[in-house]
Amino acid sequence: MCGIVGYIGDKQAYPILINGLKRLEYRGYDSAGVSILNKTVKVFKKKGKVSDLDDFASKKDTNGTIGIGHTRWATHGEPNDVNAHPHISMNGHFILIHNGIIENYSRLKEKLTDRGYKFKSETDTEVLANLIEYIYLKGKVTAEIAVRLALSKVVGAYGLAIICKGEPDKLIAARKGSPLVIGVGE
Ligand code: GLU
Repeated sequence: MCGIVGYIGDKQAYPILINGLKRLEYRGYDSAGVSILNKTVKVFKKKGKVSDLDDFASKKDTNGTIGIGHTRWATHGEPNDVNAHPHISMNGHFILIHNGIIENYSRLKEKLTDRGYKFKSETDTEVLANLIEYIYLKGKVTAEIAVRLALSKVVGAYGLAIICKGEPDKLIAARKGSPLVIGVGE
């Protein structure tokens, strides 16, 4: 069962995300990843342990105060670096991590492919990232509205943490059939 951590605030996000992922390791997983938004989007993903991810990512520039992290339990696509989360939408507007299964992902993928979308991974999650982006660009709506509209088309259970590059002061979370806890504090 996968785990999700998100952070937005005044502190450096990376250590909070990695520590959060370590605390979720007991749930079992096959790969892990984090993304930090700081003007540009940085994504670090690795098959294997959170410590493998940390060895890799801590040598890079992880500066930033908003980010999301994930431990994956693969359901769609083998455990590897590409299929690991976070996933970025094709035009780079959305970064997304997901717990659960998008049951109607192949139909949604077909429709997005017809509209010119290309996919890097085998996951159901990347389909959702691209669906949100498609609605965001086509409908010229806010990120939150795009997420709400996209989720109205999804069949399945999910926990989600989403960042939109154009709205860097926001961390969007959503759930259906999966638990989600939001902490607000100093
Ligand atoms: N279905 C997604 C995948 O295979 C998410 C799996 C999970 O809950 O970790 O990437």
